[in-house]
Amino acid sequence: PVAERIKIKAVKSMQDKRVQIYGWVHRLRRQGKSLMFIILRDGSGFLQCVLSDLLCQTYDALVLQTESSVAVYGTLLACDKAIGGIELKCDYWELIGNAPPGGIDHVLNEESQVDVQLDQRHLMLRGENLSKIMAFRAILLRAFRDHYESRDHAEITPPTMVQSQVEGGSTLFKFDYFGEEAFLTQSSQLYLETVLSSLGDAYCIAQSYRAEASRTRRHLSEYTHVEAERVFITFDDLLNSIEDLIVDVIERVMANPTGKELLLFFNPDFKPPKKPFKRMNYSDAIEYLKANDIRKDDGTFYEFGEDIPEMPERRMTDKINEPIMLCRFPAQIKSFYMPRCKEDNRLTESVDVLLPGVGEIVGGSMRIWNYDELIQGFKREQINPEKYYWYTDQRLFGTAPHGGYGLGLERFITYLLNRYHIRDATLYPRYISRCTP
Ligand code: ATP
Ligand code: MG
Ligand code: MG
Ligand code: MG
Repeated sequence: PVAERIKIKAVKSMQDKRVQIYGWVHRLRRQGKSLMFIILRDGSGFLQCVLSDLLCQTYDALVLQTESSVAVYGTLLACDKAIGGIELKCDYWELIGNAPPGGIDHVLNEESQVDVQLDQRHLMLRGENLSKIMAFRAILLRAFRDHYESRDHAEITPPTMVQSQVEGGSTLFKFDYFGEEAFLTQSSQLYLETVLSSLGDAYCIAQSYRAEASRTRRHLSEYTHVEAERVFITFDDLLNSIEDLIVDVIERVMANPTGKELLLFFNPDFKPPKKPFKRMNYSDAIEYLKANDIRKDDGTFYEFGEDIPEMPERRMTDKINEPIMLCRFPAQIKSFYMPRCKEDNRLTESVDVLLPGVGEIVGGSMRIWNYDELIQGFKREQINPEKYYWYTDQRLFGTAPHGGYGLGLERFITYLLNRYHIRDATLYPRYISRCTP
């Protein structure tokens, strides 16, 4: 009978039929001279294939190694012992590309050090864990797009080579742009703000770059930034949008059978966060750190006006053990574009969302929409506003109250899949002293 060419994910619906499948030899077991088992991998799943008699006595069968690419033909039969309860009884096969003896085992195996794993990331991807994380990541990205589609946000593709800064000069990557100084973008926020008056609420999923000189387990130098901006909203609307984003995206992932299966594979105890999230002001957090004896390295306490760094923030979040919307940071530790709170001029209309196990995953705020105030903000940060005319013009031509936020995709995955280090959520991670493969 003719063989229909299929992907492994479709085997269930093809039981008892003859099929053709292309893939890679994930595992290989020879049993005596006349029986051979291949676990075939094709990116959509894994399938046990049985080769018997002459099929495993050819030259190709004798030299076959794991990680070779092959085509297999045969009938799909029910089999209790096989993964997925189905196996392929092979009647013909072809070796397409063989691999060195032992496959990738001599380069990468269970005992490999982290640095070897990272150098061999392209081979590591062939393993089950990393490929599952990347499959999950793709589902998550789709959930974000579906969320924004359903909330009427327009998707844009901003430039990532820029001559503006958003989050302070210390983490800028500079490069030579035909003789002019340019940067890799830290955030697409400013560009998103410029489209509100033409497209309305907007979002983008783009790479952001931060020259993070210290090694932490949640900082990359290149990451995927999910950012959105909304217009004619209040600070409270902004907080609700962020909460809605997190809850809705998780619901969408869990409604996808593969998404749910992958999430629970890595994080079996996962409980989706519920609205409303705990809301806490920055000043309450300073009090919380004191009350819980969380101190700086030198033994003193964090005082109002100081940035709360990663370690104390993590300790607080892990202790509270639920999402926190940390609001109203003092102006001196936040960026030039954040407006002051009416009730207290020292504070800004800003928010960070903190999640257990990771800490900050979202940073957001309202944006100054008064022209003169914005220019003051630039001056305070010693940034020349003239270069930002395309941004400040928004305040001259029909200004409007607006706000937005950015979420780190890899941090969100780290939280959802309960990973220890952010690099686990990244295809080819970049951080200090690693820019390859
Ligand atoms: P942190 O305090 O952890 O350094 P940030 O306050 O500098 O983060 P924002 O400028 O607020 O970060 O960026 C918005 C979001 O982007 C953050 O909440 C985080 O999820 C993500 N993010 C920021 N920097 C990084 C990074 N270096 N690697 C990965 N994700 C990042
Ligand atoms: Mg930072
Ligand atoms: Mg921060
Ligand atoms: Mg932040």
